[in-house]
Parts: sequence; C-alpha cells; structure tokens
Amino acid sequence: MIPFEYLKPRSIAEAIGMLQPGDPDVRPVSGGTAVMLMMKAGVLRPSRLVSLRYVEDEYKQVRVTESGELHIGGMATLSSLEHNDDIKRGWPVLAKAFRKLSNVRVRNVAMIGGNLAHADPHLDMPPVMTILGARVQIQGARGTREMLVEELVKGYYETALEPGEIITKVIVPPMHAANAAYIKVTTRASHDWPTLGVAVCLQPEQDRLRHAELVVGAATDRPTRLASVARSLVGIELSDHALREAGERAAHELDVVDDQHGSAEYKKHLLSVYLGRAVRLAAPGAVN
Ligand SMILES: Cc1cc2nc3c(=O)[nH]c(=O)nc-3n(C[C@H](O)[C@H](O)[C@H](O)COP(=O)(O)OP(=O)(O)OC[C@H]3O[C@@H](n4cnc5c(N)ncnc54)[C@H](O)[C@@H]3O)c2cc1C
Repeated sequence: MIPFEYLKPRSIAEAIGMLQPGDPDVRPVSGGTAVMLMMKAGVLRPSRLVSLRYVEDEYKQVRVTESGELHIGGMATLSSLEHNDDIKRGWPVLAKAFRKLSNVRVRNVAMIGGNLAHADPHLDMPPVMTILGARVQIQGARGTREMLVEELVKGYYETALEPGEIITKVIVPPMHAANAAYIKVTTRASHDWPTLGVAVCLQPEQDRLRHAELVVGAATDRPTRLASVARSLVGIELSDHALREAGERAAHELDVVDDQHGSAEYKKHLLSVYLGRAVRLAAPGAVN
C-alpha cells in the first residue's frame, strides 16, 4: 500500500480546511468500510485521508424537530440509527432497512454520510431515502447547501458533491399518514448486497391510494423512480391482477443492467413479482 497521511480533525471546520478541493487524492473518510476496500483493490490511492470520526458530537446525533422532521447527523453510525427509538416510531421503514444493511460489524462503524456519499448503485439507503423525500445538508469551503438524496447520486460511484464537500446532515420529512416499505431481495443471506431493492411510499385515501412513489435500487447505475407505474396505482382497487400488471409493466419499462448479483432478465423477473409485494406491504390495512 502506498503511504498516506491520516488526519483526525476535532471539528467539521477543521476537516473542511484539511480537504483540498483541487486534489482528488485527498478524501474524507467516515467508517472507512468502503474506502479500505477501494484502497485494497487499488482503485483508490489517497495521499491524505481526513477522518470524520472525531468531529463535534452534534454531527453524530439524531433529533426530531418541532416541525416533525428527522435530523440525522452525517457522522451517526448505521447501528445507532437502527436502534434509535424516534426512527423506529416515526420512520419504521428506515429502522427496518438499517437492520438488513450489511452485517453488524459494518453497521457499527459505517456512517450515514459515508454511506450516501459512496454512491454504489446497490446501496439500500438511497432508494429508501428517495421515496421519503430526504435531503442532505452539505458543508464545504464555500458554505452550506442542501440537496435531495434523489439528486445526490449521479451514476456509478458518482455524486453531485463538489470536491472538498462533506455531508453533515440528513433531513427526512415527517411521514404523516403515508406508509412506506422496502423489500431487499438477496440471493444469499438477508443482509447481503441486494440483487434488487424496491422502495414504496403510499398516501392512502380510504381503501385506495391518493399518491404513490416507487423507486428501484440495484437495477441500474442509480436509484430509479418508476413514476408512470406509480401514477397508474392511484385511485384503483389494488387487486392481485392490478399489482401483477403494474409489476410486469415496471419490468418492461425499466432498462435493467446485469451485475454480479444477477442478470438483467432475472432482476426484471424479480421486479415483476416484488413490486406488487412491496405495495401490499405498505398498502392500507397491511400489517407492517
Ligand atoms: C462486507 C460488506 C457488505 C456490505 N453490504 C451492504 C449492503 O447489503 N447494503 C448496503 O447498502 N451497503 C452494503 N455495504 C456498503 C456499506 O454500506 C458502505 O461500505 C458504508 O455504508 C460506507 O460508509 P462508511 O462510513 O464506511 O464510508 P467510507 O468508506 O468512510 O466512505 C465512502 C465514500 O464516501 C466518502 N465520504 C465518507 N464520508 C463522507 C461524508 N460525510 N461526506 C462526503 N463524502 C464522504 C469517502 O471519501 C468515500 O468516497 C457493505 C459493505 C461491506 C464492507
């Protein structure tokens, strides 16, 4: 391994000062679970890693604001989020998704900011955060800005972050009467990388839907929204036939790519089956 500098700033301001936007070999590191694998594989050869582990505690905390938004510090570990009571109560779909996101050794050190910044198309969180309308707060030398998680991921391991920017907070709107579900389909253990991820958020109105959001992960180079299929579910009776048709339409419309977790054909078949199951899980009256 090529020698590199490892810095441990005590504040976000100090960390931002240590990142050098003009030098792609200077990188922030959170849990290091992805960074270390990329270094071992030789695809990342940093000259300097700036650890975000030792910054102010406020960036590791979770709180619900008076307006009901969930504010998650960018340096909160995934396991702390999995066990957080506010998240279990107000955003159960997140708590459940965290439980199956990799193994506990990874979840104990990986942080939500590092997770979202990694932008692997197989990550479980981006599709779930997208259907919830979550935003990231980003800090850099030029100040602070916010962006939807949906706009953060641009492609394979590619984000809209500018060099030297750090994700410092994730903001999730309140769910109100909406109900959401995420199904992670794996070919091995339930916490393994997904072959397909299907995230659904529904706004019920009596026994029909007023609004639906559908996002698929692990099928293309980034989480993909199925807007027209989602619209087709609004106002109709959610019969088995209607859900099967919606699944088949989604599989037909989505341009899926092969990867090491499954062929495009297999993923399309999974989508045709699991889209309806995910809607059923989140539909009015479902025991979720
Ligand atoms: C064995 C194994 C199995 C896994 N299985 C799954 C799975 O089933 N589902 C799933 O979703 N994920 C899975 N993962 C991926 C895991 O979720 C990520 O490795 C992890 O979330 C990355 O978080 P981290 O804090 O370790 O990031 P790091 O490795 O520290 O950083 C990742 C990237 O983000 C950048 N970065 C870090 N922090 C920030 C920040 N705050 N702001 C801006 N940029 C930042 C780094 O420079 C780097 O480019 C698995 C990983 C492993 C090792």
